[in-house]
Amino acid sequence: MSCDHHVHVPAGHGQTFEVRAGQYLTVIDSNGQQAADFVAVVLGDTAQHLSPVHTRRHLNSLFFQVGDHLYSNTDEPLLTVLSDSCGVHDANVPACDSTRFSIDFGVDDHRNCLDNLHEGLSAYGVLAVNVPEPFNLFQNGPVTADGRMQVTDPTSKPGDRVVFKVLKDLVCAVSSCPQDIIPGNGLLVTPIDIRISDDAPELV
Ligand SMILES: [Zn+2]
Repeated sequence: MSCDHHVHVPAGHGQTFEVRAGQYLTVIDSNGQQAADFVAVVLGDTAQHLSPVHTRRHLNSLFFQVGDHLYSNTDEPLLTVLSDSCGVHDANVPACDSTRFSIDFGVDDHRNCLDNLHEGLSAYGVLAVNVPEPFNLFQNGPVTADGRMQVTDPTSKPGDRVVFKVLKDLVCAVSSCPQDIIPGNGLLVTPIDIRISDDAPELV
């Protein structure tokens, strides 16, 4: 029997879930203009994980496109990008964390992506210091011609989505980025929705 599973990531929070090789993983920006920090570790071997830095080297690019694989820290393709209705994502900056808010913005105890990602991964034995660097889906981090990096509001519209083919059994974590102090989520933090299916979803 085929499986179609839905995971709702509440605004500013995180969710952790498993996917199996051969399944399809769809990440949906339900309301638009919401960054979704996304990490994955290999089920049963959490030292292997999705790696933006290795992916950038494989792709010879700071950004991924439809048809690209996303690679692990052991140079293994873990996901394939099957479709992408937004086309603007970031693979270059870390997840926001407590010091990002306390040091850069003077706000203590602000919700943050690192804690959101670690919350569920801790049950798999992943320490906070070992949470992999994320792919920041829908995050808009343009790089200028002189090599400078910017972070501004996403271009994503309500319902924009990225569909991945899963190539290896993974534990994934997704954070609806709680950044509400500077642009990055349209200054309004909103939910992310996840669909996991055995059958190919309708591609956008
Ligand atoms: Zn964040």
